[in-house]
Amino acid sequence: MDTSRPEPQLSALYQELILDHYRRPRNKGTLEDATHSVSLNNPLCGDEIDLQLRVDGDVIKEARFIGRGCSISQASASMMTQLLKERTVPQAIALAERMSAMMQGDDGAARDKTLGDLRALAGVSKFPVRIKCALLPWNALTDAMKAGRG
Ligand code: ZN
Repeated sequence: MDTSRPEPQLSALYQELILDHYRRPRNKGTLEDATHSVSLNNPLCGDEIDLQLRVDGDVIKEARFIGRGCSISQASASMMTQLLKERTVPQAIALAERMSAMMQGDDGAARDKTLGDLRALAGVSKFPVRIKCALLPWNALTDAMKAGRG
């Protein structure tokens, strides 16, 4: 693991939640019966995310990911997959838009309970270089949702 890369200075409580997701990622692994699979990387940081979803009709039934990279990208993926189960495609797209607004410094989005643990990442908006890390899994989600409609 690359420990030389400086992490943004977020509040201690949030830092702990992010590290918890990074060390014990939720929903990490492959989906045997995935209907959607999108791989994206963030060359600026070396983050990689392979997002796999099982969508039934308009509802996301299962979400898993494989990935590697910095704590922010991996924690964001872990937190995101926690929120996706039983969401409809429009709800998932709305969440991605909320997350993107929070990364642009939107205080309302940062207080939005629907973002769950992701609110721990609100402070990342102050570190422009790391915003791409936090949004990487969300970009994969948006790509997957678009692909499903084509
Ligand atoms: Zn990163």
